[in-house]
This record gives sequence, C-alpha cells and structure tokens, in this order.
Amino acid sequence: MRRILDIETMRAASRAAKGNNFVVGFVPTMGGLHGGHLALVRRACEVADFVVVSIFVNPTQFGPSEDFVNYPRTIDKDLELCESCGVQVVFSPSAEMMYPREHQTYVCVEELSKSLCGKVRPGHFKGVASVVMKLLHIVEPDVVFFGQKDFQQLMILKRMTADMNMPLRVDSIPTVRDVDGVALSSRNAYLSDSERIRARAIPAALDAAQRMVESGEKRPEVIVEAVVQLLLVHGVDVDYVEMCDAETLKPVVAVASNVLLAIAGYVGKTRLIDNRLLTLPGK
Ligand code: AMP
Repeated sequence: MRRILDIETMRAASRAAKGNNFVVGFVPTMGGLHGGHLALVRRACEVADFVVVSIFVNPTQFGPSEDFVNYPRTIDKDLELCESCGVQVVFSPSAEMMYPREHQTYVCVEELSKSLCGKVRPGHFKGVASVVMKLLHIVEPDVVFFGQKDFQQLMILKRMTADMNMPLRVDSIPTVRDVDGVALSSRNAYLSDSERIRARAIPAALDAAQRMVESGEKRPEVIVEAVVQLLLVHGVDVDYVEMCDAETLKPVVAVASNVLLAIAGYVGKTRLIDNRLLTLPGK
C-alpha cells in the first residue's frame, strides 16, 4: 500500500492503474476509521481492482463553532486498517494543498442541501460537495463509495455527479451498527460510558417508528412526536426529527413507500445522526 500526499502523484497513480485496465474505486473519508468505513472499503475492494481511500478532515464543511480542531485524527491506525483491507493507496493531502490561499470556487447542490442537516448546519453541504468534487477530479475513480448513514450526503453527491455529467458510478452500503444498535461514527469516540448508553435511544426510536408504521400509523406528525418524546426521555437533545421523501428529502404528509425517518440529536456535546427507510406493513 502507498500513502500519497500530493495531488499530482495521486492523479498519476490512478491514471496508471486505469492504463492497466484496472477499475479504480474510491472511498472518501475524514479518517478516525471504524467498522462502517471498513465495510465501505471492503465493498470497494470487491467491486474495484485498485482502491483509493482518502483521509482528509475537510475544514470547509465545519461551522465556526463545530469540532474541526478536536475531530478524531488517528492516521497511523487508519493506515494499518487500510493496509489490512487490501487498499492500494491512501491519499492524505494537507489542508494547504487542497485549499491554497487563492482558492475561491465552491459547489452547491441547491435543493437537496436545504433540508435536514442543511437547515441546521449552514454551509456544511457546500463544503462537502466542494471537497468531494475536488477529490473526484484528483482520483478520477470509476466508482465512488458512500455510506447510507449519511443519507442526505449520499443523495447530494449522487445528484452532484449526475448533474455535472461525471463519468463515474456512485455505490453505497447500509449503515453499519454496533451490537447495541448505535450507528458506528467517528464522533462516538467523544461519548462517555453513560452518554454511550443514552445514544442507544436513537436507533431504538427509529425501531419504534418502524413498529408504529407496521401497526398501521400513517400520520408523520404522530410518529415524529413519539420519536421526539422517546429521545427526550432518554436524554437526547433533539436537533431535528423528520420524515421525508427519500428521493427529494422534502417532508411527507403521509407514510408511503420510500419514506426516510431522519434523526439528529445531541448526546451531551456530541451531535449524532441516524436514519431509517421505513417499510410499509406487508412489504
Ligand atoms: P466520514 O469519515 O464520516 O466522512 O465518512 C466517510 C464515509 O463513511 C461516508 O460515506 C459515510 O457515510 C461512511 N460511513 C460512516 N459511518 C458509517 C456507518 N456506520 N455505516 C456505513 N457507512 C458509514
């Protein structure tokens, strides 16, 4: 496995792989790798012959009061994990290389960035879309892999690559969870033992919503209210709970097929997100 730090070397390595008729797969990450990332990497290794993982904590997707400085940085362990999965290249550029002083161009996926996390984290998805666009131009993959854990991000990046006629395929995997149901996340590292127990209320609330749907409840406002109460009772400060169409991410007026329930909440100071596609009874 190679670790590459600069853009030109990265592009040359990818082009050389393509010259050998290898399918190039790309997994963008911010490091702090866990089992969710590794499932994505393993999927990439199944689909592609030459797998690139980027590790870059992207400053432009963090708000001024967010956790950019303290974000988990575990590069040595991340490199070992990538090597053990059979990754060919880890690309870990510096912030100065990705954003030289004169940098001033950003990408905005307009409608899909307005709802859910976009409402409460202004500028976040502009930062995400821009850095992923840059990374895709550097790595030039045939397939890029994202997790459904960040469902809105996945939809935004699918839209961006289609709208910009980018010659690649977007692949995704379902959310990987710990044994207690909590979605794996780099930010789980911030949780104390007692906060970690409180965090279980998030997947439990998603499951409770699914049971309500199975028992015939169709009113989003009733389900959302029940979910909010469950979270509050267990000490999760709700940022939002929303039921939306899984394609448009716009709120739904009734539970139908392809409805996403999305939760964002704070456990202590740690912001966690999770989601579930709701399945209608008998489906
Ligand atoms: P991040 O390092 O948080 O930017 O995440 C990098 C990629 O890993 C994104 O495509 C995420 O959606 C994906 N990912 C993070 N956590 C999980 C998880 N628990 N299950 C599946 N994919 C995940």
